[in-house]
Amino acid sequence: MKIYEFQAKDLFRDFGIPVPSGKLATTLGQAVDSAKSLPGPPWVVKAQIHAGGRGKAGGIRLVNSAEQVERAAEEILSVPLITPQTGPSGQKVRKLLIEEGIVDINREFYISIVIDRELECPVMIFSQAGGMEVEEISAKHPELVLIESIDIARGFMPYKARNFLYSLEPMPDKVMLGKFSELMTRLYELFISKDCLLVEINPLVITKSGKMVALDAKISFDDNALFRQKEIEQLHDPYEMDEWEIKAFQYDLNYIKLDGNIGVMVNGAGLAMATMDLIKLAGAEPANFLDIGGGANERMVRNGLKMILSDKRVKAILINIFGGIMRCDVLASGVVKGAKEIEIKVPLIVRLEGTNVEEGREILKNSGLDFSVAKDLEEAASMIAKQVKG
Ligand code: GDP
Ligand code: MN
Repeated sequence: MKIYEFQAKDLFRDFGIPVPSGKLATTLGQAVDSAKSLPGPPWVVKAQIHAGGRGKAGGIRLVNSAEQVERAAEEILSVPLITPQTGPSGQKVRKLLIEEGIVDINREFYISIVIDRELECPVMIFSQAGGMEVEEISAKHPELVLIESIDIARGFMPYKARNFLYSLEPMPDKVMLGKFSELMTRLYELFISKDCLLVEINPLVITKSGKMVALDAKISFDDNALFRQKEIEQLHDPYEMDEWEIKAFQYDLNYIKLDGNIGVMVNGAGLAMATMDLIKLAGAEPANFLDIGGGANERMVRNGLKMILSDKRVKAILINIFGGIMRCDVLASGVVKGAKEIEIKVPLIVRLEGTNVEEGREILKNSGLDFSVAKDLEEAASMIAKQVKG
């Protein structure tokens, strides 16, 4: 789950990570009032969306008067913001963060923490080339991207901060070293205690007077840990998801849109991946990943089918169910009800196996629906490939 910059900065404040003072605004009037109540001018007007790369796209404006705040706010709110992370149609901006402008910037740094799946632990990434996207830094100046692993049994060790900073030219003094070390420790505390997948500060700035401030903040959380992070879950804003993600969220389904034309519904993520592999081996492309889960009920099957059918690219549907916890007869009646609600105009191929498989096949057979039954997964894949090639 992603959150907005202003929410990430609230969490930074809670953990003692320094951020500029700022206020949220949704109207031009609020934007101007907020600016007037903050130190400045200058002020910064910042578009709040769940994507980065806003600066270059015109979503971050440094302004010097109340009139300029109003104009910047009006411009940002009136057109969708298109950044490399939003997709070509961009993202409409509904929220602005108005901040005191930090002017006497001396240096900009990049700091983030992510999970490294190969090392099987969190790693901290540090660069003195802050302000640039990290992908760009590692492409252009890989020697400036430093990585340190974090042992979760010990937490963030101060010597890791020294490993980063001893490479700097000029090397920071003891006071600055202490500030970095403390900030990194707090960032790690936030990362680990809130079940984050990513915390990122880009840029972290040092002012000419030696103040350290996080100018930007990005956090994403592990969805699977939200059950124990209730106050984090509250920060969720469905508006920032695309229409397919919203539908899947409402239906409690694990749905991801892909590029092909075969609609796929499977129970279990592993089986879903294996099914997609077999479809590809048979020479066709799945239109989606859809795992209705081991314990899916009739309603979820019906909604899954609805989602697949509302995708106009879908030329054929493959339903692959291995009935374990999920009983085949429950699936079958879900399919039948779904099919009656929404007319299925494309070929439907079903492969059923497992608990109550006979009852399931019986329900499908008596439904009057037009569908084909495959005896196993391989046959199902080749049948579906023939449908879209034919
Ligand atoms: P992003 O482009 O989405 O990552 O948005 P950022 O919040 O990082 O803002 C983009 C850039 O605007 C930063 O890299 C800074 O260079 C600049 N910026 C943001 N806030 C301030 C500020 O208070 N003062 C100054 N001088 N520049 C700022
Ligand atoms: Mn940034």
